[in-house]
Amino acid sequence: MSVAENLAAVRERIAAACARSGRDPADVRIVAVSKTQPAAAVVEAIAAGVDAIGENRVQEAAVKRPLVTGPTPWHLIGPLQRNKARAALGLFDLIETIDRPELADRIEGMLAGGSRTLPVFLEVNVGGEAAKSGVATGDAATLADHVVRRCPHLRLAGVMTVPPYDPDPGRSRGHFAALRTLAQGLAARLGVAALELSMGMSEDFEVAVEEGATLVRLGRIVFGERRPVA
Ligand SMILES: *Cc1c(COP(=O)(O)O)cnc(C)c1O
Repeated sequence: MSVAENLAAVRERIAAACARSGRDPADVRIVAVSKTQPAAAVVEAIAAGVDAIGENRVQEAAVKRPLVTGPTPWHLIGPLQRNKARAALGLFDLIETIDRPELADRIEGMLAGGSRTLPVFLEVNVGGEAAKSGVATGDAATLADHVVRRCPHLRLAGVMTVPPYDPDPGRSRGHFAALRTLAQGLAARLGVAALELSMGMSEDFEVAVEEGATLVRLGRIVFGERRPVA
């Protein structure tokens, strides 16, 4: 199956999940997660109309992005170390993984004085897993306030999560619902209409769509199994 065929099948499944939950499929966008895949695969995905490209490592994006042209935005979906922040700003259009005030401050400091405003999402550790990155659900409002009040060159545009791994996607439903509830509370607190909800991967995107995902991050179901080296 080609990337285009895989995406066509994914879009049908998104449409069905929208039909089950009374949503408009136009409100669900696809972030094609191209980690370990070559730049040629990214080009195929863009040709097939994905809404964004997701990469989880700065170094890997640095290799691929110069080989890919066009306006499709690139999202950083993996953890960002302080010393990679400047490189990330040159490679990504949106950072989905803001999880602490220090990281927001670091990026703000690099953008200060310029005219660029970077859209960002807060990564939320909805499952409360000790080993996982992401701000704790209970600390998300404080982090959101920090970004909005202290970081004028960042625009808080959404939240993302990776729920605890579970072979039964139905068991992720509660975590997705929790992120939606959190986002609704943050939007009300900040006085914005809505925040993007980045949730759902290859195994559980239909459940995420039923629970309100506006961005699904899809890797293997679009590109096939991950490859040993980028
Ligand atoms: C790899 C990755 C994905 C995509 O995973 P698949 O299971 O291949 O769809 C989504 N989100 C994040 C944060 C990832 O690291």
